[in-house]
Amino acid sequence: MTTHSHAALPALTTLSDDERLFRESVLEFAAREVRPLVREMDEHAKIPRTLIDKLFDMGVMGIEIPESYGGAGATFFHSVLAVEALSQVDPSIGVLVDVQNTLVINALLRWGSDEIKRRYLPKMATATIGAYALSEAGSGSDAFAMATRAAERDGEWVINGRKLWITNGNEADLFIVFANVNPDAGYRGITAFLVERGTPGFTVGKKEDKLGIRASSTCELLFEDCRVPRASVLGDVGKGYKVAIETLNEGRIGIGAQMIGLAQGALEHTIAYTKDRKQFGKAIADFQAVRHQLARAATDVEAARLLVYNSARLRDNHLPFLTEAAMCKIFSSEVAERVTSLCVNLHGGNGFVKDYPVEKLYRDAKIGQIYEGTSNLQLETISKQLMG
Ligand SMILES: Cc1cc2nc3c(=O)[nH]c(=O)nc-3n(C[C@H](O)[C@H](O)[C@H](O)COP(=O)(O)OP(=O)(O)OC[C@H]3O[C@@H](n4cnc5c(N)ncnc54)[C@H](O)[C@@H]3O)c2cc1C
Repeated sequence: MTTHSHAALPALTTLSDDERLFRESVLEFAAREVRPLVREMDEHAKIPRTLIDKLFDMGVMGIEIPESYGGAGATFFHSVLAVEALSQVDPSIGVLVDVQNTLVINALLRWGSDEIKRRYLPKMATATIGAYALSEAGSGSDAFAMATRAAERDGEWVINGRKLWITNGNEADLFIVFANVNPDAGYRGITAFLVERGTPGFTVGKKEDKLGIRASSTCELLFEDCRVPRASVLGDVGKGYKVAIETLNEGRIGIGAQMIGLAQGALEHTIAYTKDRKQFGKAIADFQAVRHQLARAATDVEAARLLVYNSARLRDNHLPFLTEAAMCKIFSSEVAERVTSLCVNLHGGNGFVKDYPVEKLYRDAKIGQIYEGTSNLQLETISKQLMG
């Protein structure tokens, strides 16, 4: 806990003028451009390229990229605001923007050489989608047990292996791929490589058919003697574990943002529905039992938002945030599941059908407890900090 002896500090939820305007413009964009497509994108499990182009035009695909590279030159907190606002309408769009900013661009900014930054950042700000490929069929929570290998041959790196469940796999042109170059050294052999779509030996495989966030692509990646230049190493050889840990620590704040946006969206739909729906001669919103359930849900969402915003503000201020980020992810994903479940209940039969938006948000909420570190893994992080 830090102390401050002068004037009162602003509240965590107090936004600067710039942050407020940014948030409002993303919310307005989501209502205008995303909302009409939500059902179709869920049913077809696809995000239209025209919408992706609009996300680039909007400036939400390169939020932290400095203006000198064509980005918005904004903060991590802006990324959180964008992911939250988009997820209020569609968490699939939320995670597309989240992976782009909090994982891929974040890693390029922190670990990329000047050459890498010059080569990729202007593209990432304008047209190129990124993906982050760590998990494999045999190594999810135990990510560093990966079986993908890279070996140096004739001045190039040759990658062999398979990645699984890679978000944005279908749309991405740039992939951060983790492979072990020296298995005898354990995790100290792990190295991060930049692999472009179209590189010989690299194919995007099967796309998963999922419970939720169906429009977001989740794909297998295959590497069969995939040769990449020496300069494709992101950070140092053998330091890929640091790239992975540090980006995921930040990335999970973005998942927290996705979860609070999703829960807020479900809550707003449900408040409107309960005011409209009449039973026993009055709006169901007039029953105290219903009002109190909604009041409790709103309290949960606000508490989760404070954890998410605090983690993001800590990160932007270069203060330790590891425990807070783990807390924000576990809490906000549990809140999202609880709140969307209540929202389905309060819609009655209509909550169970696809004509109303809460059915989808309930399905979408489940992923929050699984990706970027399951809830058990977050509890491990928190308890290590508590008890050593
Ligand atoms: C939709 C989707 C998108 C994804 N996107 C990406 C992506 O873009 N990039 C990427 O690299 N990966 C991605 N993933 C993979 C995701 O990060 C993993 O699925 C996740 O880390 C869990 O790994 P696992 O599935 O192997 O589960 P496992 O590790 O097998 O876990 C199964 C269960 O065992 C528990 N468990 C495991 N180890 C322990 C332990 N030590 N203590 C207590 N409990 C434990 C877990 O908590 C979980 O409940 C995505 C997955 C999905 C479903």
